[in-house]
Amino acid sequence: STQILLASRPTGWPTGENFEVRTVPLAELADGQVRVRNEFISVDPYMRGRMNDTRSYVAPYQIGGQISGGAVGEVIESRAPELPVGTLVLHQHGWSDVVQADAAAFSLVPKIPGVPNSLRLHMMGMTGLTAWVGLKVVAQMKAGDTVFISGAAGAVGTAAGQIAKLLGAKRVIGSAGSDAKVQLLKDKYGYDAAFNYKNGDISGQLHALAPEGIDVYFDNVGGEHLEAALDAFNDGGRGALCGAISSYNSTQPSQGPGNLANMITRGLKLQGFTLANYLEHAGEFSSQMGQWFAEGKIAYDETIVEGIEHTVEAFIQMMQGKNVGKMLVRI
Ligand code: NDP
Repeated sequence: STQILLASRPTGWPTGENFEVRTVPLAELADGQVRVRNEFISVDPYMRGRMNDTRSYVAPYQIGGQISGGAVGEVIESRAPELPVGTLVLHQHGWSDVVQADAAAFSLVPKIPGVPNSLRLHMMGMTGLTAWVGLKVVAQMKAGDTVFISGAAGAVGTAAGQIAKLLGAKRVIGSAGSDAKVQLLKDKYGYDAAFNYKNGDISGQLHALAPEGIDVYFDNVGGEHLEAALDAFNDGGRGALCGAISSYNSTQPSQGPGNLANMITRGLKLQGFTLANYLEHAGEFSSQMGQWFAEGKIAYDETIVEGIEHTVEAFIQMMQGKNVGKMLVRI
């Protein structure tokens, strides 16, 4: 098995030096174990946080330990009757080509005609569920709301825009880091308006596209985007604080919005959330998303990098914004 380990903790942006690629022989399977060949492995922003030795909602990666995370693959050898050879499984063993463990560490994924296996790692999986929970449960989005989503062209953002529209949002506005992404948001993902935050004046651009203000903010970025949203909020606005990627590779302490007092004067609710505390919504999400998908209402993009040896590059490129939709590695 070829595995990617954390060799040292990055300061600022990670580099190849922070990782080690190791190939190890696998032992014979024990009773109750299965061996899985990964088809896709996921590279996600939260992994950057786990590379630091700081308290968070998931434990830090250990130096010399494998980078764990979402992956989907097929059982190629089995000593567990519940997961026979050929079964498609989802698991959290992360960055390796082949993995073996007790069957309990893998969840069986039903093969649905028309649903590519990779979608289990985004639109029909973790990032889709994050968008659903953030909008519906945390921000309590209602039909008729004007919704602003940052990081709109990424995995969570492309799901959130479509879900907001399907739940009856009046107007959905997105921000992303290139003109091509902005165009895609409007053409493919149903955004009513979008802007390129790299052109600067985030607050001004948001005001121009949401002259009547926003009711819901889905924050993937933090910093200046959050400050702009606080300015644009209507009374009683609701924010779901999902991520703050603008600070993940920064060596400076992140700057807080200077207008946090708007929380009080406008009666706003901003709530942070981590998906792990909302997993009871997975069932409702899967059936609703499955139905929307079958009805042809869901678009998706994935940026696929080939080969486990390019996993670290894929991870870094994702944080640089080289991805549209979900960044994945195909093994
Ligand atoms: P994405 O697919 O959105 O990839 C990351 C994107 O971030 C890049 O494509 C890039 O797009 C954008 N980006 C990078 N740097 C900046 C910056 N300085 N300012 C603005 N945008 C930037 O990743 P995910 O969809 O997987 O994750 C999106 C967010 O959701 C992250 O903050 C992540 O931590 C969070 N998250 C939180 C979860 C939770 O449980 N709370 C669960 C899953 C994700 P661009 O070209 O537009 O800059």
